[in-house]
Amino acid sequence: MGIGAAAVVGGGACWWSIRHAPRLGQAALVQTEAILALGPRPPGSDALQAVRGRLQGEMQAAGWVSICQTFERSTTQGTVKFANVRARFGGGGSDVWQRPVKGLLCAHMDSKLFKDREFVGADDAASACGAMLEIARVLALEKPQQAKLMELVLFDGEEALVGDITAFDGLYGSRYYASSWPSEVAKPQFGILLDMIGHKDLAIQLPSDTPGFLREAVLSAAGKQGAGKHFGVAAGAITDDHSPLTRAGIPMVDIIGDFSNLAWWHTPADNRRILSADSLDISIRVTLDALDKLLREP
Ligand SMILES: [Zn+2]
Repeated sequence: MGIGAAAVVGGGACWWSIRHAPRLGQAALVQTEAILALGPRPPGSDALQAVRGRLQGEMQAAGWVSICQTFERSTTQGTVKFANVRARFGGGGSDVWQRPVKGLLCAHMDSKLFKDREFVGADDAASACGAMLEIARVLALEKPQQAKLMELVLFDGEEALVGDITAFDGLYGSRYYASSWPSEVAKPQFGILLDMIGHKDLAIQLPSDTPGFLREAVLSAAGKQGAGKHFGVAAGAITDDHSPLTRAGIPMVDIIGDFSNLAWWHTPADNRRILSADSLDISIRVTLDALDKLLREP
């Protein structure tokens, strides 16, 4: 660390970018590779169960407690057992789940079901799970008071089991989670969803209907991290796991890579080779910076 870097830390602007870069992206890539090594992980599969166990183990090692939120749905593929993972920081005991939290950080664990091809969903969305683990680790280590204000949620069943997401297929975990938030507990003030954030040609496109304060938090964080050219706003809205939470009254931003007109999306080409540690690093630093701003504000 040079004198100039120390001055930046002293200014309080970018505490992690100086101390950690570029190790955050590399560490998240290692986590992502461990998920991909377990193979395709559609809802109800043994591979997804193994991924869940691995994610919970890694979060526990970083000081977070987690629980599975299980439910069943009748689908075109028969009855499927789903399980979201929720994680909180700040000790065990049942009261850790009762207290209100200020923010959510979410990603989806499942890969889309294809019966005729090997699809591992490297950027859709194993990379977001890898990034989430690294964000959880850094928050716990460097900002434990902020970690206590957060809930991390890993959704099952984001992908439709057949074709595109519809009102009846896909977003299973986020729909269930949104409907199960207890009415007597204050809802979070904001949520950030990560999806397709590790592509080597990183081009994040926030949905056009993102609430203004969240759009501002993410875009200004991108500017501060020198990553403004990788972040923009899409021409339209996007249907993703943030949608049920938005409808439930939680303001959400989907930090999502541009998947329009991309040949790799939902094909076997969405594999390890399209990922980049540098892209993951950018997405993690911008998310941490945005969280820092959002969690500081009263
Ligand atoms: Zn997908």
